[in-house]
Amino acid sequence: MTDERLRQLPAVDELASELAVEFPGLPWAVLVEETRRGIAAARRQLLDGARSAGAAALTRRNLRALLEPSLRPVINATGVILHTNLGRAPLGDFRPHSGYSNLEYDVTAGRRGKRDVHAGQLLARLLGKPAIVVNNNAAAVWLALNELAAGAEVIVSRGELIEIGDGFRIPDIMARSGAILREVGTTNRTRIEDYREAITDRTRLLLRVHPSNFHITGFTGRPELRDLAALGRERGLPIYEDLGSGCLVDLSPYGIEEPLAADSLAAGASLISFSGDKLLGGPQAGMLAGEPELVQRLRRNPMFRALRADKLTYQRLEETLSHIYLQQWDRIPALRMITTPAGTIRERAEALLRRVPGLKAEIIEGRSLVGGGATPNQSLPTHLIAIEGDAPELERRLRLGSIPVIGRIENDRLLLDLRTVSPAEEALLVARLTAAANSGEGAL
Ligand SMILES: *Cc1c(COP(=O)(O)O)cnc(C)c1O
Repeated sequence: MTDERLRQLPAVDELASELAVEFPGLPWAVLVEETRRGIAAARRQLLDGARSAGAAALTRRNLRALLEPSLRPVINATGVILHTNLGRAPLGDFRPHSGYSNLEYDVTAGRRGKRDVHAGQLLARLLGKPAIVVNNNAAAVWLALNELAAGAEVIVSRGELIEIGDGFRIPDIMARSGAILREVGTTNRTRIEDYREAITDRTRLLLRVHPSNFHITGFTGRPELRDLAALGRERGLPIYEDLGSGCLVDLSPYGIEEPLAADSLAAGASLISFSGDKLLGGPQAGMLAGEPELVQRLRRNPMFRALRADKLTYQRLEETLSHIYLQQWDRIPALRMITTPAGTIRERAEALLRRVPGLKAEIIEGRSLVGGGATPNQSLPTHLIAIEGDAPELERRLRLGSIPVIGRIENDRLLLDLRTVSPAEEALLVARLTAAANSGEGAL
């Protein structure tokens, strides 16, 4: 039986010619290659005794997928604002320059310029210190350790030897930077004397890491940054603080307690670094700011060239920093989501449900998460749309659309949080919910 079906697999040229009619304009070589892959996949399925959609269908599916970008928009209805899997901070209505730009050209002087100026001037205003930009904060950590401490020792508290996620561990980055780790204190408590006693003539740097994604409670303690800075000054050692999310806007009125980047510098950190796409709400980037001579050294490190940010990043970062400096929070999607009152989300949820009369759902209280390795146990009150019915099936139906809608399942119910859905996406969400509610049986 299988032999018979294997014999019936089409010839490559034959199937490719057929598909050339359906996919006009595709290069013949691509059609042939994709047809070969489709036939091979069908053969494997038959040999495995599996049901096969057939070589033509498999090839068609691959060709369609090739014509659609793999990276595409999704509607984030999870309520996790900085969702690592969904691209962290949303970019909003960002319109990249499509042509040339003055990326490294000083238009006034008519000569070569530096890309740093585009974000550096605003960062200097916001932080009071010079700053440079690299590809992300992981690159910033590596660059700082490499330049300031390669071949020498860096003192860090055991309680701060963290893994951020996706295998980014401070000890591993340190090893790759050439710096040698000198751990002090215990997991839950480190005192200023622990640092003092560990300083030798091999010490180059005191490192402090903001424990972004976890929280130790109970009998804990670490020295104030101010005291660490005093120790550093006394012994002629710089203090570098990796802030992780690095907040530039005081979000405490909204219930988010996160150290402010400017406060770290004011407390005496010689150098700080933080991400662009966490609480800053901008593009993926890593900022390094601090004492002018340290920042200069990092800028001159040959690896800066390999870690530098791209022109799209500079453009979006400058826009974001400008909104922050001009206090236009509502122009930064992540900050707009954080600052939206729960009552507004409830009103939006009610209005949305009125537009999908076929959907059986209720509105319940819940929490949105900041996410993104920032502010681990901090959340915001919200109102969720809780949909009745077969949650896994409904979740799948919403996820597998042309624009996937991602929600979360809790207690066997599919929950949608409009905090992370922009008002501009609501019409599409209504359409998707209407289709999902009507295409199933029962209570969906
Ligand atoms: C998130 C984070 C990083 C890594 O930042 P990326 O911008 O994701 O590379 C490094 N350190 C800390 C403390 C973080 O929270």
